Amino acid sequence: MFLVSACLLGLNTKYNGGHNFCREVLAYGKEGLLIPCCPEQLGGLATPRPAVEIQGGDGRDVLTGKAKVCTRQGDDTTAAFLRGAQETLLLANTLGITAALLKARSPSCGNDMIYDGSFSGRVKTGAGVTAALLGEKGIPVFNEEQLSELKKFLG
Ligand code: SF4
Repeated sequence: MFLVSACLLGLNTKYNGGHNFCREVLAYGKEGLLIPCCPEQLGGLATPRPAVEIQGGDGRDVLTGKAKVCTRQGDDTTAAFLRGAQETLLLANTLGITAALLKARSPSCGNDMIYDGSFSGRVKTGAGVTAALLGEKGIPVFNEEQLSELKKFLG
């Protein structure tokens, strides 16, 4: 059983009220059991909502209080991101989730790259807040561009 970013299945959870539907993820999901979740909505944020990026580090740094998640105008949404990460972890633990398939580059869901905080479309190495927490707790996180790796993990 896997967690999947809700927006990858076509749910309109994205910050701009849209989605990131991925046909391959849906097809893959039909082979098993995917549990959709959106950490930002679980953290209490509205949809649509302002775009945010992690400032001063990545999700691991947010978890330790060294970085923040802010809008372009500087509004601090870190608390909601931390709450969403904890709620997602609670869901994973409650259901005995073994892995997660999350949206690439998101400040919540990105597993290996995230936007760099400049709101210019540039990316940097690092994880989003939820992906970082799941990873720290031993739940491997893949993104929609790593389906072959996920398949290998499944054996
Ligand atoms: Fe998709 Fe994750 Fe962003 Fe929610 S937080 S819209 S699931 S990328």
